[in-house]
Amino acid sequence: MRATFPYMGNIYIPLRTIFKNLGIEPIIPPPYNQETLTMGAKLAPELICIPFKLTLGNIINALQQGADTVIHTSGRWSCRYGYYPFLSGIILRDLGFKFRQIVLRRDNLLEIVKILKEIHPNYTTIIRKIIRAFSLGYEKSKTLEKLERLAFFIRPREKNTGETSRYLRYYLTNLDKAKRSQEVRNLFTEARKKMRSLPQKEIKGIRVKIVGESFCVIEPFVNFNLLEKLGEMEIEVDPFLTAHRWLGFHSLRLGRSEVKEVGHLAETYWPFCVGGEDKNTIGYSIKAAKDNYDGIIHLHPFACMPHTSCGSSLERISRDYNIPVLSLSLDEFTQEASFYNRVEAFVELLKRKKTRLERPR
Ligand code: SF4
Repeated sequence: MRATFPYMGNIYIPLRTIFKNLGIEPIIPPPYNQETLTMGAKLAPELICIPFKLTLGNIINALQQGADTVIHTSGRWSCRYGYYPFLSGIILRDLGFKFRQIVLRRDNLLEIVKILKEIHPNYTTIIRKIIRAFSLGYEKSKTLEKLERLAFFIRPREKNTGETSRYLRYYLTNLDKAKRSQEVRNLFTEARKKMRSLPQKEIKGIRVKIVGESFCVIEPFVNFNLLEKLGEMEIEVDPFLTAHRWLGFHSLRLGRSEVKEVGHLAETYWPFCVGGEDKNTIGYSIKAAKDNYDGIIHLHPFACMPHTSCGSSLERISRDYNIPVLSLSLDEFTQEASFYNRVEAFVELLKRKKTRLERPR
């Protein structure tokens, strides 16, 4: 079986390991690029959100690379995510692609065992494969999180712009290749030592919380590599969602107490759950204000129902907690230059506010 799946950010690193160790050949298409977007936008319904257009383009790339199976996650979402697999299935079959489509939901996870039974002779082998695949995959996912978080902290402080990102890319490539847990642990120890020893400078210590729709927060192509660029502008970013947290929140139900806590915080402003991390966006924004973050950036696709609806609550939070919020809508027509005009103005505002607050009265 040569399987592919729509991915975002570095999530393919643990997923590649899981697939390989389960005996499934993973077909990972090249990173998102303008061609993927143009192709997806041409084939998708005009007003559907940008994550659909990009993932559609990406799946086509994978099918052209020889994938014979497409694995999607889905669920009973109130937004469009619930019908992504079905819609993309219709479009791809209309284009003449022949493939098997597997839709994984929380209520049909046993589907994985059924698929594995087609590949492996007996249940003992399957159980052994599952244990190894998920333990190494989880180790990699956790390490990915630690490496990305380390970079979020070091990047704004680096003296030589771009050094942290270079190290991060190097260690992520090696993390992707690692075959054993011990190798993964050694890699992190070395990465931490190397990255911490980079020459550093004094900074104002401005912290920005990144909230919004999962794909827009995690995938650098769609957000014009915002998390890295903010770091280079001496801003310490803290995305509420990362590849590891997305996998943990939605598959293994990790961090339930944290999610419950932010859900509780969100209640006054947003007592609904319409999908796409709406409640988490509101809850984490309030938490950021209470934890004295300097600003919030809200990333969402144009025409995304959950985030268009909860946007007005963010404006109230900004007023009530006196915290600047910048809301950025993304689609295939968003221009990088105009996007960064707004980001740079916001960063300038945060820097001036910080200086004003620090000045003795
Ligand atoms: S959350 Fe928004 S962008 Fe994501 S699938 Fe739902 S409607 Fe589309």
